[in-house]
Amino acid sequence: MRLVGPIGQIGPISRIGSISRVTARMIPIGLLGGSFNPIHVGHLVVAEEARGRLGLERVLFVPARVSPHKLGKPLAPAEDRLRMVQLAIADNSAFEASDTELRRGEPSFSIDTVQQLREQSGGEWDIHFLVGADTLAELAAWHRVRELADMCKFVVFSRPEERGAEPGPSRAEGTPRPQDALDPLRAALRDDQVAAIAERRIEIPLIGVSSTDIRRRVREGRSIRYLVPEAVRRYIVAKGLYRQ
Ligand code: ATP
Repeated sequence: MRLVGPIGQIGPISRIGSISRVTARMIPIGLLGGSFNPIHVGHLVVAEEARGRLGLERVLFVPARVSPHKLGKPLAPAEDRLRMVQLAIADNSAFEASDTELRRGEPSFSIDTVQQLREQSGGEWDIHFLVGADTLAELAAWHRVRELADMCKFVVFSRPEERGAEPGPSRAEGTPRPQDALDPLRAALRDDQVAAIAERRIEIPLIGVSSTDIRRRVREGRSIRYLVPEAVRRYIVAKGLYRQ
């Protein structure tokens, strides 16, 4: 695991006759943003599954700077959330933690993050922005989403609730079917952008765990073993996070 910093990779040197030139090779990179409050096995499975399915060279975990009052739920300090991400991914050389958003003083727009990562990579990253299907409805309202959709590839993954594989309450209450969930996007994005998002949808194995569930368990003194990597569990205990 590395913490992502400015990089300047170049593609392989090719020769055409006597002329040498550097060919640009776009590197497929996944980006998984979230509050990671805390990171759990659901996040790791999504990242690993996306890496394999999309042939990603790396997956960046980008903890978001969140306003505690806006979140309306207990929030661990940014440095603890980043540290837990680092601990969770330490054994996977394809995973990296990025403090891009945390370094900014304010909660930031995704387009700024993607822009910054593109600049850091010298424009060589083909960024696959991983978004949970639960976020899809909000995507239309994202800042400059049409431009963002041209700067990266949105990949929507279905979380357990959206898959409808289990007779869950959300489905019973009329949660839109996955294909209908794209409808709100049609007003904000071009038809070709919506079609590309529909094509790139991936399904992930059912991992019915959330950070909310982890925090509740800690508060209630219940076990979180195996729901988060052991190093993260120890960190939560040592730092006394989420006790109230
Ligand atoms: P909270 O319970 O506090 O809302 P969360 O568990 O949803 O948090 P986030 O950090 O908000 O975690 O999630 C980051 C991304 O990971 C989001 O796109 C979210 O949809 C996805 N994600 C979270 N948990 C799972 C899971 N169990 N399976 C698949 N995707 C998940």
